[in-house]
Amino acid sequence: MSEEEKEGFETRAIHSGRDFVSETGAVTPPVWLTSTFEYGNPNGFDYTRSGNPNFRLLDRTISTLEGAEFATCFGSGVSAITAIVSTLKSGDVVVAEENIYGCTFRLFAQVFAKFGVEIVYLDFTDPASLEGLAERNPALVWIESPTNPNLKIIDIALVAGAAHAAGAPLIVDNTFASSYLQRPIELGADLSLVSLTKYTNGHSDALVGAVCTNSEEWQQKMIFAQKALGLQPSPMDCWLTMRGAKTEAIRMERHCENALALATFLEEKTDAVRVWYPFLPSHPQYEIAKRQMSGGSGIVTVDFGRSLEDTMQFIDRLQYFPKAESLGGIESLCCHPASMTHASVPKETREAVGITDSLVRFSVGIETVEDLIRDVGGALQA
Ligand SMILES: *Cc1c(COP(=O)(O)O)cnc(C)c1O
Repeated sequence: MSEEEKEGFETRAIHSGRDFVSETGAVTPPVWLTSTFEYGNPNGFDYTRSGNPNFRLLDRTISTLEGAEFATCFGSGVSAITAIVSTLKSGDVVVAEENIYGCTFRLFAQVFAKFGVEIVYLDFTDPASLEGLAERNPALVWIESPTNPNLKIIDIALVAGAAHAAGAPLIVDNTFASSYLQRPIELGADLSLVSLTKYTNGHSDALVGAVCTNSEEWQQKMIFAQKALGLQPSPMDCWLTMRGAKTEAIRMERHCENALALATFLEEKTDAVRVWYPFLPSHPQYEIAKRQMSGGSGIVTVDFGRSLEDTMQFIDRLQYFPKAESLGGIESLCCHPASMTHASVPKETREAVGITDSLVRFSVGIETVEDLIRDVGGALQA
């Protein structure tokens, strides 16, 4: 298909996965709640741990939205991470961004370290980090952009070039950006990992993760990991996530609009010490963000420079931002990384990457933005 004829993101999100229903005319696919399949069926299904029509439909939707040849869905984002790491062997070295997702850090430190997989953390916004990459002989290079919770933006195309020069595949955790705003495979990454639990599902009612790739070899490894490690999602969660994907584009537009408005308010109208949002001109990697993302996404991180006690009281006063883990749902949420998502990261490690006790992360929902701003402004003044 030529570039002109290529369907848009929204069309692909809504019209992918209409096969399997030709016998009934149903516009929406059913949920195949079955653990097993009769032998010899035309699609080759045998047992849901190694494949189910709902997985296959979601795989196709996600691969087309990510601009990748293949996608494999897993029971959660962490299952998707496990699938990738399970391809490594003792003695392998992973070079990762130091501001990595807390559960990824924990998985390497407390599980895979026992199996002899080594991990080295670097600051990938520092060009010097890229120079020494080949000497470390990495089996994988692992980054996120934007990172959690400091929203560092890493130049994916630049790191892909450096990783390939070092003979290593690049994996990008694309969860914070979403498939709508950023497509790592098109930027040169070998694997794009997405916690579909967040923006793709968008309604905080299911857990699913996916690994996308153009490599047939990686795809085979992911299918193997899904069944051999028991990392498969549930058919119902896949169905809910596919429904979510149909509205991802319009939700993301509103998330971006609301988050930019809240970030601008915090920066201009409050005494916050520092506000991070990729599409604020004050963001240190603003230019890179503008180049590789089509919007700033829905997360705003703020350092209020207050004491731990004051910060906690501020959070408790918020009306529309319940304190909860996770992000990317239609409802706004608020998180205190030091005591929640990054509680498993040692305090010195945490503070070295900027996760102080006065840091607050907002997942900005799609509510009326004036209400969100009034809520935050009021809780700050009280
Ligand atoms: C939430 C999250 C994950 C893990 O996804 P789950 O679906 O919760 O297992 C991985 N990476 C990032 C950046 C996340 O925000």
